[in-house]
Amino acid sequence: MMQVCVLGNGQLGRMLRQAGEPLGIAVYPVGLDAQPQDVPFQQSVITAEIERWPETALTRELAGHCAFVNRDVFPIIADRLTQKQLFDTLGLATAPWQLLETPQQWPEIFSRLGEPVIVKRRTGGYDGRGQWRLRPTEEAQLPDNGYGESIVEQCINFSGEVSLIGARGYDGRCVFYPLTHNLHQDGILRASVAFPQADVGLQHQAEAMLSAIMQALNYTGVMAMECFVTPGGLLINELAPRVHNSGHWTQNGASVSQFEMHLRAILNLPLPGPVVNSPSIMVNLIGTELSYDWLRLPLVRLHWYDKAVRPGRKVGHLNINDSDTDRLSATLETLAPLLTPDYVNGIAWAQMRLGA
Ligand code: ATP
Ligand code: MG
Repeated sequence: MMQVCVLGNGQLGRMLRQAGEPLGIAVYPVGLDAQPQDVPFQQSVITAEIERWPETALTRELAGHCAFVNRDVFPIIADRLTQKQLFDTLGLATAPWQLLETPQQWPEIFSRLGEPVIVKRRTGGYDGRGQWRLRPTEEAQLPDNGYGESIVEQCINFSGEVSLIGARGYDGRCVFYPLTHNLHQDGILRASVAFPQADVGLQHQAEAMLSAIMQALNYTGVMAMECFVTPGGLLINELAPRVHNSGHWTQNGASVSQFEMHLRAILNLPLPGPVVNSPSIMVNLIGTELSYDWLRLPLVRLHWYDKAVRPGRKVGHLNINDSDTDRLSATLETLAPLLTPDYVNGIAWAQMRLGA
């Protein structure tokens, strides 16, 4: 039996394990404080559901192991500075940026990047944490330890956000899902919509960008690329060297899910292009208690992560897939009253995307 150890035991590791089951692949998501002797890593291919980890007995053992796929790629992507430098080296369009080193730079930064600007910690941020949107006079909101440890970006006036999920095999061949439209609120993904056929020009541009990145890094497995849609085309926002929240719809909307695709890639199994026959919607469950009322809707597929419910925490998601966009929209209409009012915007946005 093939074995995979996943560094990190959150929902992504859990869904990798679920995807491995029908294929006879044993996937062991492991918490960072596990004892190395309790983890069967010697017989496993090693992957990760996170980009960065503290030094523990386990991470020292696993992250240095020769069976850790993409071992040398994680540090590059985990630091926004080296990630941005990679885009620049490859000539790939990204939001204009610079390293933020001292407070004396502010006048020059605002004159070069305009206002507001977005400051992002180089490491450790997620779901919009570790980010500040600043105008002149607001610079003091940034803690002193942000200097040297952050980049600053131009605030992009985008018409939408999309992501591309792709996978690369050991032989260098890449496969891609159709672009996913994403709605973020307060830096956190609320909902995604994907169609079997994305805009051909944008899909082509995105695939060329992500291929170039995966090729340059000699990467194996699933990688996600988040982009802003602008009149001049796509600007890359950021990369994730792993399965990604915006690809969760593939569990119920594609012939092979992103989780299975990642396992296939890192285990050198066949890597066919995924077949997508109908539109999908994914609604993130954020700080919401579990309700089986959702299951009354025949198209709703629930994925619950079994985590303690806390405000702002991703605790599950709903996938909705059907060939008929009217039926999808009607499902969203019926779903809205079964959720709290903070879902109204996300649901209206998904309905708008379905109609577009
Ligand atoms: P994730 O949870 O995806 O890892 P994150 O916290 O790492 O998110 P980003 O993806 O960089 O951070 O930013 C979160 C969201 O904030 C983006 O999806 C976008 O909506 C908004 N945002 C980030 N950077 C910019 C920018 N330069 N201009 C405009 N909006 C931005
Ligand atoms: Mg992001």
